[in-house]
This record gives sequence, structure tokens and C-alpha cells, in this order.
Amino acid sequence: MSLYNLTAHALHEKLKAREITAVALTESVYARIEAVEPHVKGYLTLTKDIALEQARAADAGFQKGNDMPPLAGIPIAIKDVICTKGVRTTCASKILSNFVPPYDATVMTKLHQQGVVMLGKTNMDEFAMGSSTENSAYQITHNPWNLGTIPGGSSGGSAAVVSADAAICSLGSDTGGSIRQPAALCGVVGMKPTYGRVSRYGLVAFASSLDQIGPFSKDVTDCALLLNAICGSDAMDSTSVDMPVPDFTQSLINDAKGLKIGVPKEYFAQGLEAEVADRVHAAIAVLEQLGATVEEISLPHTEYAIATYYIIAPAEASANLARYDGVRYGYRTENPADLLNMYKKTRSEGFGPEVKRRIMLGTFALSAGYQDAYYRKAQKVRTLIKSDFDAAFQKVDVIATPTSPTPAFKIGERTADALQMYLSDVMTTPASHAGLPGISVPCGFVESGLPVGLQFLAAPFAEEKLLRAAYTFEQNTEHHRQKPDLSSFLVEN
Ligand code: GLN
Repeated sequence: MSLYNLTAHALHEKLKAREITAVALTESVYARIEAVEPHVKGYLTLTKDIALEQARAADAGFQKGNDMPPLAGIPIAIKDVICTKGVRTTCASKILSNFVPPYDATVMTKLHQQGVVMLGKTNMDEFAMGSSTENSAYQITHNPWNLGTIPGGSSGGSAAVVSADAAICSLGSDTGGSIRQPAALCGVVGMKPTYGRVSRYGLVAFASSLDQIGPFSKDVTDCALLLNAICGSDAMDSTSVDMPVPDFTQSLINDAKGLKIGVPKEYFAQGLEAEVADRVHAAIAVLEQLGATVEEISLPHTEYAIATYYIIAPAEASANLARYDGVRYGYRTENPADLLNMYKKTRSEGFGPEVKRRIMLGTFALSAGYQDAYYRKAQKVRTLIKSDFDAAFQKVDVIATPTSPTPAFKIGERTADALQMYLSDVMTTPASHAGLPGISVPCGFVESGLPVGLQFLAAPFAEEKLLRAAYTFEQNTEHHRQKPDLSSFLVEN
């Protein structure tokens, strides 16, 4: 029996019953990693020694008959934007190629309290800027469903390794869609919690008013378990909200009766691929048959979400990335002429083209004379986008949309056209502006065999409604059980 393809909750039962050990489980996942990684390339760093040590510690706890947390001994992958004490954290950038954090992000501390096994750090777009993981300074990650296509981004590595069974679950970060979009494109579950739900302490900053950490998993139950582990206020992050964290597993209720689902007409407009629209409509119909009520709604400012995002996110990024000066940490150029030349050369050599583009866009949007026209205007539009959602959630419990307008696209297809790449985020950025929680769950496949994701959105701190809708859908469908056939890909490639 292979263990690497099971869920965390199934594995927990086996660990608890002492049918398996965490060490055997960890070995099983690394054997899988060895087989598929040469083709998927989802990891930047593997931490097998640490993992086995953590697995032994978990086993010791289970052997003593201790009441172990649900994620004890579970092998998990971490996006390389989350600081891991003593383990290189690059953000897939050359400028952080040698950065070994002296501290753990709060989410890591919380996961270690559960006794997880850390497999390694996953590939991503440099500083989480991108939608395809092609902006990594190190490698291209391949979508396990078709190795010629991208896994989505920016958390493409975290999505791909879960999809390929090269991790049981993983963490990513979502600023404008970076968890939900790769989850959709790789056929796994991915959730962006409400802004403020999870501490950002130790998450390398991209756009601080939007960034949020969240889980990738093979099913909704594992998503709830990961949320339980990572949510909660934190004195180290003033934007984390001091609200009680419910036990999210209580929301795993297979019942759609009385659930009010809003379907925003603006999300089914131009640019949405017909097959994707079909699968999403069919998925919503499943919930309707199960007793949900479905109504069309309007979120009129949706069309401005991308333009607004590509002002606000670069503006915040240009400020956040000022810290990479070659002095305190990270890469420094060799033999600079003087201090100013050291800054210039370090940043020119250390950052990739997309990061430079964002810094320039953001610096321009914030510059004297333009700040009102761009940045302040964008903030006003952001408020309007949020008001659309506030009004909608007066009427409905959740909003259902496609997660991405298209399935995974071919590697290289959009790299030459930044605007086309930015349009990948059209369905995910609106909720990011409003700070809402969102989940993507697998909801079918297009003709070519690539997965399609269904996105649910809810009001701030209403993750429980998302989980209930997603769980009910999952329990009444089989999409999440489908696995990419990597054996045939491996032969063909
Ligand atoms: N694709 C979006 C961008 O490039 C979102 C990235 C993210 O959520 N980190 O900015």
C-alpha cells in the first residue's frame, strides 16, 4: 500500500492506530518525490534530515499513546516565501539566494506545535509576482496533469507537489489569487483565509494590504485541519485580527439545504473559456439539486479589479522591496565602485524582470504628482469593489464563480505579454481587494484532461460557510478523487 497518496485525516487514523509510522510515511513521500520531481520540479529545497527527525519525534508521541494533534507526523511542503528557521528561504529570487532566516514564521511555529514533518520549500514566482511560476529565478514547475503546461502561480510549486502526491498538503500565499488559481489549475483544494485570519509574521512581504497565507490539500477536510492549525491572532502581526477561531472541522457538514448561493454575472463574461463556464455551471447545479438556492447577482465594479490591483500591489511592493539593498542580507554585487553603485548593481543583478517591472510601476504610481491620479484613485475603487461584496452578502451566504478563466496554459504561452498574464487573475483579485476568504475546489475537467476549479467566496471571517459549501460539493462528486496519471507522462517525456 502506498501512503503518499492519502489525505492527512486518513493518515492520522493510521498513525493513531499505529498501523503505520510517521517515518515510514515520510520515506514513502520522499520515494514519490524522487520519482516525480525530475519531471514536476516543484521543490527548491528538500529537508529530508529535518523531516526524518520530526517524523521520529511524532512516532515517539504516538508510541507513548499520547493524544497527538491531527497534523502530527504529516509531511507538508512550504512555499519558499515563508521564513523557516535555519532553512534557506529564497522567494525564488536570486537576491535571497543565500538567505537563511534566523527565525520561524508564526505559521511554522504553529505547525511545529502540531508536530508536522517539513518536506521542503516549494517553487514560486519570484517574490510571489506572477500567475504561472515561470518567474522563478531557479526553475520552471510543470503541471502534473500535463507537463507541458504551467501549474499556475505564484504558489505553483505548493499546488503541483500536492497534485503529484509529492506532499500530503502544503502552505502557499495569496495576494491576488496565488493560492486559489494554482489550486484550480492543478486540481487540488486551496484556500485564502480572510485578511487578518492568519499571521503574516515571517511571510516575506509582497503587498502587505493583500498578502495572506493559506493551505493546499487533497480534500476539504484537510483544508479545515490546516486552517485550525494556522489561524489566530498574533502579537507579531498587527493586522492579524483578535477573533476567536472556530473549530473548522465543525463546518464539514454535508448539507446544502438553505444555503444561498449568488452567481455574479460579471464573472461569466468575455474571456471565460466556454468549457470552464460549463463545468462551473454544472457544479452550481449540483448544489442546487441538493437544496441550495441559486440566484444571479451583480458585482458591478468587477471589471476594475485588475487595473486596481496592478496599481496597489506594485505600489506596496516597491516600498517593501526597498529593503533588499545588499547590506543587511541576501545577495551583494562584487567589486562595486562605491555605495550607490553597490545598491544599483545589487538590485539590477538580484531581481528578475517581472520584479523590476513591478518596482517601476509601483514607484511611478507613488511618485509626486501621480499619487492622487493612480494610488489614491485605486484605493477609492478598491472601496467600491468591497461595497459590491458587502451588498451581495446581505442577500447570499456564498458567491460561486470560476477560479480561473482558463485551464492551465502552455509553458511560455504568456511570458511575452504581461497584460495577458495579469488577466489570469481576473476572478481572484476582486476578493483580495475586499479581504474576503475564498476557496477553490476541483469541479471537473475540460476535454484536454486539464482540471477546472470552482471558487466560493464569503463575507470576512465566514470561512465556515465556504467549508460547508465546498464540503457538500465534494461529498457529492468525485472530481477530487481524480489523480494525474504521472506514470504515462513519465514514459512520454
Ligand atoms: N498573479 C498575481 C500577481 O502576479 C497574484 C500573485 C499573488 O497572489 N501572489 O501579482
